[in-house]
Amino acid sequence: MIKITDLNKTYYSGSPLHVLKGVNLEVEKGEFLSIMGSSGSGKSTLLNILGILDNYDSGTYYLDGMLIHNLSERQAAGIRNRKLGFIFQSFNLISFKNALENVALPLYYQGVGRRKRNALAMEYLERMGIATHHHHLPNELSGGQKQRVAIARALITKPQVILADEPTGALDSVTSEEVMKLLKEINRNDGITMLIVTHEQAVAEGTDKIIRIRDGLISSVEITGNK
Ligand code: ADP
Ligand code: MG
Repeated sequence: MIKITDLNKTYYSGSPLHVLKGVNLEVEKGEFLSIMGSSGSGKSTLLNILGILDNYDSGTYYLDGMLIHNLSERQAAGIRNRKLGFIFQSFNLISFKNALENVALPLYYQGVGRRKRNALAMEYLERMGIATHHHHLPNELSGGQKQRVAIARALITKPQVILADEPTGALDSVTSEEVMKLLKEINRNDGITMLIVTHEQAVAEGTDKIIRIRDGLISSVEITGNK
C-alpha cells in the first residue's frame, strides 16, 4: 500500500534542518501500525509527506503503486480525496459548522448532493456513537466526541489509508483508550490501513506494529502480538 525508499527531507527556513535522513518503510494493505518517536524526531514530517501535504527532497514514495513526487496541488488533492483520511490531535473541525456538517464536508467537495451527504454523515455519526449530537457545534462537544466526529469525517469518503497524527494527544487516558479501540475496530472491520503517529508508549502498544523513528531514521520495528 505504501512503500518509501531512502526518503530525505530538509527544511530550509533558517539554517537547513535535515529531518528525514533516508527513511525506508513498507506498509501492507490492512496494517494497523504506529510510528513512535520523541518530540521533534520527524514523525509529523513523515506523516505529512505520506499524506501528500508536503514534498520530499529525494528517495521515492509509492502509494498504491503510484509514484508520489512533485505533484501539482490539484493532483495531490485528488489523490488525498480518493485514497486518504486524516485525523489530527487538535481535531481540525470547522468551528461554525455542526457535527453533521463537518462530517458531510468531504462529500460536498466530491460534488455529492446535500440530502445524500447528510444521510451518509448521519450513518457515520451513528457508527461513532454520537448521532444524538449531530446538531452540536464543536465547542459544545467533549474532546472524545470531537475526535469521533473527526473520525467519522475521515471515514465518509471510504479511504484506503487513514493517517492519524497524535489522535489521542489532547485526550485523557480513558478517552484515549476508547478512541484507540474505535480505530482498531475500524481497521479490523473495514480493512482500512491505519498509521498512527504517537509519542505515547501505551498508544503504540495498542497497535499491531511499532515503528520507532530516531535521528531521522527508522531505528526499530516491533511486532506487538496484538493481532
Ligand atoms: P515530531 O512530529 O516528531 O514532533 P516534526 O516532524 O514536527 O517532529 O519536526 C521535526 C523537526 O523539524 C523539528 O525540529 C521541527 O522544529 C522541524 N520542523 C517541522 N516543521 C517545520 C517547518 N515547516 N519548517 C522548519 N522546520 C520544521
Ligand atoms: Mg508531530
